[in-house]
Amino acid sequence: MTEYQPDTTAIRAGRVYNDTALAPVLWASSTFVAGGVEEAHRYATDITMPKFYGRHSNPTVADFQHAIAELEGAEASRAFSSGMGAVSAVILGLCSSGDHIVAQSQLYSHTQLLFQAVCPRFGIDVTFVDGTDPDAWEAAVIPGKTALCFAETPANPKLALVDLERFGAIKGPMTVVDGTFAPPIAQRPLEYGVDLVIHSATKGIAGHNDAILGVVSGSEELLAWIRGFAILHGAVASPFDALNGLRGLRTLGVRLRQQTETATHLAQALEAHPAIEQVFYPGLPSHPQYELAQRQLDLDCGLISFDLAGGRDAGRQLVDRVELAQLATSLGGPETLLTHPASTTHVGLLPKELEAAGISEGTVRMSCGLEHADDLETDLRQALDSIG
Ligand SMILES: *Cc1c(COP(=O)(O)O)cnc(C)c1O
Repeated sequence: MTEYQPDTTAIRAGRVYNDTALAPVLWASSTFVAGGVEEAHRYATDITMPKFYGRHSNPTVADFQHAIAELEGAEASRAFSSGMGAVSAVILGLCSSGDHIVAQSQLYSHTQLLFQAVCPRFGIDVTFVDGTDPDAWEAAVIPGKTALCFAETPANPKLALVDLERFGAIKGPMTVVDGTFAPPIAQRPLEYGVDLVIHSATKGIAGHNDAILGVVSGSEELLAWIRGFAILHGAVASPFDALNGLRGLRTLGVRLRQQTETATHLAQALEAHPAIEQVFYPGLPSHPQYELAQRQLDLDCGLISFDLAGGRDAGRQLVDRVELAQLATSLGGPETLLTHPASTTHVGLLPKELEAAGISEGTVRMSCGLEHADDLETDLRQALDSIG
């Protein structure tokens, strides 16, 4: 079989249940008619069979899973009804009471809440480490007790990176990466020996701000465990969202390349603006892990964060005064979105708590969309120039 570049794979993969249709097909049926008791038995006992019952599997969802597995270089994938569905199924499906988890301290807020509020209820201990320090991961592993190490790279909000080569080489526990900020064309953690990679496909993969979808990929053995739990857990991907996932994959390459180009341009412009204290973008030489970013990211993608010199007031003014960029939570879509954590998602935190979360009062996160970079630059400039 010819080996294609990931951009090509993203366009062609996941058509097993397509028949002669060119575009991915929506199988809306919740159940399927068996041709006899033998076939019904086979479908009921092999949970990878996509024509049994919709909570187990579905042909459209299966094709989305095939496409993601091929892109990640994984033996298997399982789709979920959200990124959090995938995260919680991995944690609760693979860990038991008495187990220990090592996780990085700067995580997507709900992943962090799962570790802090849910894991202790099930007797699972979690140690948080600085994910940018490879030695800290290894030092926190308790031989025979640590079941899992959980990383997110690039991470919210300052786009800090975990060194995948070192992370994938950790001996003993399973290693899991949430790679949402860098979809498979940009980064493939499994190539570094990482065991499982998770994406909130809600973001760059579906890519149009019209689906809620998650996916996890890895070995057939681990996915068999996760699938078994997922059927009971019930956070099943809707066929329509999986269809939107396959729709998004066909333009993933061009979208990520354009978003990277726009973000690189805007990051440079922001870095030169007097209202800005610091810009964080993996593609800028000023990023504290620039060399690592060059090694493990094929594309730097569309997320930038920056600290405004004027703190919280300046952050509020900026997000109020932009006209083209919009104030909304999410990322990776065609529309450029801004968030100002100190006045929205993290409004209840004290300055020192914000700092522990890696957020300053003037931190703004921007997900660059597909609008023309000149229009975005003009918009940001008029808003930044007006900040008092
Ligand atoms: C959005 C996000 C999630 C959760 O995904 P949902 O699809 O919203 O459940 C998990 N991790 C990261 C890094 C995210 O950005």
